[in-house]
Parts: sequence; structure tokens; C-alpha cells
Amino acid sequence: MAKGSIPLFSRFVRGGVKVPHNKNTASCQTVEMPCPDRVVIPMQQHIGAPCKVVVKPGDAVAVGDVIGECTSYISAPVHASVSGSVVRVMQVKLANGSSCDAVEIRSDGEMRVSKNVKKPSVTNKKELVEAVFNSGLVGLGGAGFPTHVKLDLSENDTVDTLIINCSECEPYITADHRCALENTADIISGMVTVMRCLKIDRTIIGVEDNKPGAVRALSNAVKISPEPECRNVEVKKLKTRYPQGDEKLLIKACTGRAVLMGQLPKDSGCIVMNISSVAFLGSYLKTGVPLIKKRITVDGSAISQPKNLIVPIGTLIGDIIEFCGGVKTPAYKLMYGGPMMGIALPNDRFPIIKNNNAILAFGEKEAVLPEPTACIRCGRCAAHCPMHLIPEAVEKAVRLKDTVQLKKHSAEACIECGCCAYGCPAHRPLVQSMRVAKSLLKEAGSNGK
Ligand code: SF4
Ligand code: SF4
Repeated sequence: MAKGSIPLFSRFVRGGVKVPHNKNTASCQTVEMPCPDRVVIPMQQHIGAPCKVVVKPGDAVAVGDVIGECTSYISAPVHASVSGSVVRVMQVKLANGSSCDAVEIRSDGEMRVSKNVKKPSVTNKKELVEAVFNSGLVGLGGAGFPTHVKLDLSENDTVDTLIINCSECEPYITADHRCALENTADIISGMVTVMRCLKIDRTIIGVEDNKPGAVRALSNAVKISPEPECRNVEVKKLKTRYPQGDEKLLIKACTGRAVLMGQLPKDSGCIVMNISSVAFLGSYLKTGVPLIKKRITVDGSAISQPKNLIVPIGTLIGDIIEFCGGVKTPAYKLMYGGPMMGIALPNDRFPIIKNNNAILAFGEKEAVLPEPTACIRCGRCAAHCPMHLIPEAVEKAVRLKDTVQLKKHSAEACIECGCCAYGCPAHRPLVQSMRVAKSLLKEAGSNGK
């Protein structure tokens, strides 16, 4: 399929599935977790090149000190999240199976902020992009794309709409919902700065209608704000439907504009930012403290005391679960992120990284999946796919390693939302097949780009 030859969506967004919300922690006020004894901070916490470690064992560090520097444009610096001393620099395995360098810091428990932390002055696009780069911000909704790259628009880009993503369509996760309720002033400040510096006329804050409290809080904040930009801000209530939070689907739902295959959101005149990213930006402009902590939801049937927490980046999952009272039943499945798009972890020795928004632990009943049976060609997977793909045909082409068919079926357009597998009566592992399909296309150098 040639680049840009088919719209990813028809006139109306279709597909998707209704999933149980299980937003058990929606009313849980966020708690700041006490500083852990040690953190392990990987140099790869974003899409793009990993950072280069710039500290060595024995070095004293304070909160906000740079410990990982960028080696390429698409990257984001990494900062110390606690004060203390560097114990070692080592290789760690990431959840996706790849490896990178990581810095282990023993905390002194004081959370001393570095003298290098300075409040930025931001009045135009150049200063905004520079400040966002220095802050280490990446897409906090899960994508992990370096935000300074997204905001660095060229003169040819004609972006007229900022979309703030507060759809949070994954079951269980309520971190963005709590951000909307608890960090409203920072959201307004971050949003107004982006609109002003990038000369963007309007903003749409997309919130699914299962979060009426967030809709109210954001609408009130916009209404009472003295900032002139707020007159062009709409808080849009969206029908709850998974995977509403995908940025291309969100653009369609908020503006009616389609993003063609191979295009970026800015090609349809939009920039999409996650609400937690916008709130962080507002806080950074106020304090100059870079991205060193993260709000996450900790939930699932195995967790004793589900909570919303703010934790230093690099905190180990085992320490977080212990802070939540441990497990009340053996955890058969441990995950980074939600049940639809999250990644299963082999153990609890993985650290929280910038784009994590949840830790879920499930008991046997929820974790054990039924055995797949033969495909009955019912077509439900295709009906549920928001990207108009035919997962069953892609699965067959993967089995045959037929990259011509994979390309014909536009497998590279898959957003790995899991709707196909969720609706499959034969429990086929369709998302895994889509991932294999994408790597086969990449290997064959025919990913359609
Ligand atoms: S939903 Fe499952 S059983 Fe039905 S066509 Fe797709 S893969 Fe086959
Ligand atoms: S995982 Fe991919 S193929 Fe399956 S429904 Fe989502 S976009 Fe479609």
C-alpha cells in the first residue's frame, strides 16, 4: 500500500470494543510514596536513541542532576530522581526484551534538589523547545516520544489545534483522571504556554464521559482562567470506547480530521499531548525541576491496597507493591500499563520509567488465558479493528512469512490496541501476530514508509 493512499479511518471512527472500566482507584487521592532506598534508572526511557551515562560509581548526585546525556536529536536527557550516591552503572533488560545501560543510585533519603535546577524563562517557541528538552519530558501517556521533537514545528507546519488527551481508555488506570482533578492549575499553565509559544489558535481537551468529575474540574478551570487563550479551549466529552486514546483516533473524534497512513498528527493541523505531559510542563515552568517522578495507578486483583501514587523514576516495582500492602493472593501476571496494551513482566525487579502509568498484578483467575482454537473465520477481529485491518489474514501471512501479503494488508498500520484479540471467540494471539508482522516488514525493508 503506497504512503498516504488510504485514509486510516473512514468518515466516522469505527471499530473498537467496550471493555469493563474497572476504574477502582478513580476516587483515590494520589499519595506521594516515601523515597526508596535505591533507584535503578535506565538510559532508554523514550522512543529514539538511548542516553549516554555521564556519572560514575561513587559520584554524589542531587535531584535533577543530569545522569544521562542525549546522543541524538530524538532522545531526552535522564535525571537523578533521588539524592545520594551512584552505586554502579550496569546493563539492564527492559520490558520489551532489549537491554540498555542504567544507573543505580543509593538514596540518602533527603531528596536534596540540585543547584543546577533553575526555573526556565519561556516566551517563544525556541525557548519552549529548549526548556522542554532540558526537562527530559517524553509522552507520559505511554508513547514515550520526546516532547521537544513534537513541539519543534517548522515554518511549513500549519498547526491550528492542540488536543489534550485525557481519554484514559485503558481499564483500571486512573492516573490521568487524578491529574485532571489534582493538577488543574498546572494543566492550564502548560496548555496556555504551548498555545502562546506555538501560536496555536484553539485547544480541545478530550475526556471520556466515564470521568464526569474531570470534565467538571477542567471546564471550571478554563471558565475562570483570566488567560485570553482559554476563550478558545473546549473540554469535549467523548463517548467511552476503547481505544479512544490513540492519538490518530482522538484527532478524528475531536476534530473530524483523518490522518493518512504514513502521516503525523501535525499533517492534519494538530498536536496531541497527554494531559499528564501538559501538567508536568506547567509544573516545570514554575519550578525548573525536571521529570524525576511519575504518577501511576497500582491495581489488579492481587494488590492488597490499590492506590494512585507518585513515585521517583527508577523505583523498583517490588518496593511499590510492598508500599501498597504487598499481594493478597499470588500474582500470576504482573504488568506495566493496562490490560489491553500493557507489557507483562517476568518479575518485580523492573523500575518505573517515564512513560509508565500503571502497575497491575492479577491473580490466577484473571491471568490464565484460554488455549487458542482454530479460526472460524467469523470476521469479528476485522469488525473490531479501528484501523480497518484484517487481523485474521495478517495472522495467516505471518505463518507463511509472506511479506507481500503483509504489505498488501497494511500490517504496519496496526496500533497494537488488542481489540481484535479481545473479540476473538477462538482466542487467537492476534496482537502477537501483528507485532511479528511488523518486524517481518521491517526486516524486509518494506514497512510502507
Ligand atoms: S475473530 Fe478470531 S475466529 Fe473470528 S476471524 Fe478473527 S481470528 Fe478468526
Ligand atoms: S491490535 Fe492491530 S489489528 Fe488488532 S484491532 Fe488493534 S489495530 Fe487492529
